[in-house]
Amino acid sequence: MAIEQTLSMIKPDGVQRGLIGEVIGRFEKAGLKIKAMKMLHLTLAQARAFYAVHRERPFYDSLTGFMSSGPIVAMILEGENAIQVNRDLMGATNYRQAAPGTIRADFAKEIEANIVHGSDSPETARTEIAFFFNELEKV
Ligand code: ATP
Ligand code: MG
Repeated sequence: MAIEQTLSMIKPDGVQRGLIGEVIGRFEKAGLKIKAMKMLHLTLAQARAFYAVHRERPFYDSLTGFMSSGPIVAMILEGENAIQVNRDLMGATNYRQAAPGTIRADFAKEIEANIVHGSDSPETARTEIAFFFNELEKV
């Protein structure tokens, strides 16, 4: 298994509900290393660009409105198999189907406001990391 990097976001609901420390603690306990981190408030245009892959989906306007509704925390996580490790910590998109003990199962209350985002493949990880971080911002 390879050392990978993945892009994680704590979404506006996670920040607003005071879950930054809880979420980052879970990443660190799982052995993922934080290689970059910033808090920012996406504009609607930036949220629409980030989630452009979903532009045909019925929830696109709502999702991008939500993602630009408050500050988020973006991070690069690194470790063995980091993309899947992070997805396993997050749990399924729909919190009702998320495995017990996952972030979404423990905290999410809606399918849209589901606390965290994580890249779903090496290709999206590369694109999403470049969306948020330049070389100077990575350790
Ligand atoms: P993310 O990309 O945020 O990590 P994901 O990969 O688990 O989540 P995607 O299918 O990529 O899920 O959907 C992106 C986001 O869009 C979801 O996290 C959720 O916030 C929202 N979303 C997905 N499906 C729905 C839906 N049916 N209704 C409302 N919002 C949805
Ligand atoms: Mg996704």
